[in-house]
Amino acid sequence: MRLILLGAPGSGKGTQAALLQEKLNIPHISTGDIFRSNIKSGTELGKLAKCYIDKGMLVPDSVTIDLVKDRLRQPDCNNGFIMDGFPRTIPQAEYLENALKEMGMHVDAALNIDVPDEVIISRISGRRICPACGMSYNVVSNPPRTEGICDSCGGRVVHRDDDKEETVVNRLKVYHEQTEPLIKFYEARGKLKTVDGQGSVEESSKRVFKVLGIE
Ligand code: AMP
Repeated sequence: MRLILLGAPGSGKGTQAALLQEKLNIPHISTGDIFRSNIKSGTELGKLAKCYIDKGMLVPDSVTIDLVKDRLRQPDCNNGFIMDGFPRTIPQAEYLENALKEMGMHVDAALNIDVPDEVIISRISGRRICPACGMSYNVVSNPPRTEGICDSCGGRVVHRDDDKEETVVNRLKVYHEQTEPLIKFYEARGKLKTVDGQGSVEESSKRVFKVLGIE
């Protein structure tokens, strides 16, 4: 299955993508995680991406598209993928559509995880992530089993720099201006599936599996 996850920052894309990866056994590709791991290891790409990420802005399309182009060439993508955080602009979606077409493939579904802005803001203030493996938690609704320690890899969980409230407000603005139009883009292609992303991780996950027909 070639699946795209749409939704505002904090809508639960990363958490649902990790569950879908387990269920479907196809790679979870998060452009945000790739940028963060480049920032951590101090690469040129990481230095460039950090300037944008810290301001809550999108990394330029040309840079992001090159990164996804490389990732899609990896053999583990042959049987499908779950894209989390890409595409985020119309040019990125057009690139993906054309790149897949050239390979004789297409996106099977674009899953829009719908959560109101006020819920997003309170969720992000409680969000913690594991920089080592990318797993995402919430101190209130989905804490790790041991406080501060990742269930999955034992790494230390942290509050992302770009999850600070002033950056979140800008990220939401960017989401509405640049990413929300993708809902119409995939709707026009008959690929859009929308689920309510409110409530617990398990409740959302049930809805996600159901709408994708993989219960
Ligand atoms: P995320 O972890 O998906 O919330 O991404 C964190 C940040 O990385 C975003 O706020 C953007 O600055 C950048 N980023 C991630 N994916 C993309 C993308 N597809 N296009 C542009 N910037 C991106």
